Amino acid sequence: MKQLGLMLLVFCFSTSSAQTLDRQRTVALTFDDLPEALDGNNLAGIRRNTPELLRTLKLHGAPAIGFVNEGKLHAPGEIDARIAVLKQWVDAGMILGNHTFSHSRLFTTPLLKYEDDVIKGEVITRWLMSAHEPYQLYFRHPYTSTGPNKEVKEAFENFLRERGYKVAPFTIENSDYIFNRLYVDARRDKDAALMERLRKAYLELNNAQFEFFERLSNEMFGREISQILLIHANDINADSLDQLLKRLEARGYRFITLDQALQDKAYLTRDDYIGPHGPSWLHRWTVSMGMKMKLDQEPDPPKWVLDMFKKRQA
Ligand SMILES: [Zn+2]
Repeated sequence: MKQLGLMLLVFCFSTSSAQTLDRQRTVALTFDDLPEALDGNNLAGIRRNTPELLRTLKLHGAPAIGFVNEGKLHAPGEIDARIAVLKQWVDAGMILGNHTFSHSRLFTTPLLKYEDDVIKGEVITRWLMSAHEPYQLYFRHPYTSTGPNKEVKEAFENFLRERGYKVAPFTIENSDYIFNRLYVDARRDKDAALMERLRKAYLELNNAQFEFFERLSNEMFGREISQILLIHANDINADSLDQLLKRLEARGYRFITLDQALQDKAYLTRDDYIGPHGPSWLHRWTVSMGMKMKLDQEPDPPKWVLDMFKKRQA
């Protein structure tokens, strides 16, 4: 009887502490560059990676939004096949958003040309999403480049509002595109050992980034806000997402929709950042909150990864 009481006590304690963590930490998952990021953007790769990403999301009960570059659907002889893969996201209950037709950068593209790229980039996506009406339209700036100056930034945000779009911010990213470039090469070279090493380093950096932004969030808001993770539809995520989500669950995270994350009042903070980079909204908010930006304190991928990446770029 005494033992049973003790067991119940342990059970109650572990359940309530898990619930506390559940309440504390939430994250929305956002995937850019659908149907597939540029490295590895071939039909075979898309057909391998998409079902894998969706299977893993389902396994973890995780909602997600995918931001589409419709330009990538227009591959000669593959248009129908690529649209069919994109439709798998919709059929799995995921939301699709706009990431421009051709992945252009607002910092260097004339505003009217950029707006055309938004309009051109919503045709197939909106048709595919018609089954989900009504839903909130979201736009994610490629490179999260939000404009070269205040005037362009605000004019474009007005344009988005008039078309019914909300800007999709992010708070955490993990340099997955750096790891993925090397990962695609390693797969081509059938170098399984390097693939494993890259996956491991990627997951470690993801953990470090979460730690960093959880701390920054506490410094800025006195609490952990609902986070928004930006990652890409690519090879390394298709092969690592299960582990990545397991680790987040172990940190006490629950996966929520972008709509739900944006209900956190922190997202009412003004984004006054103007510049060539596309930093996390937590960094951007330091501008309007009169705090020092800590961009240079973000954890980097390990040196061997950066060296290999630089060599690959040269
Ligand atoms: Zn992108």
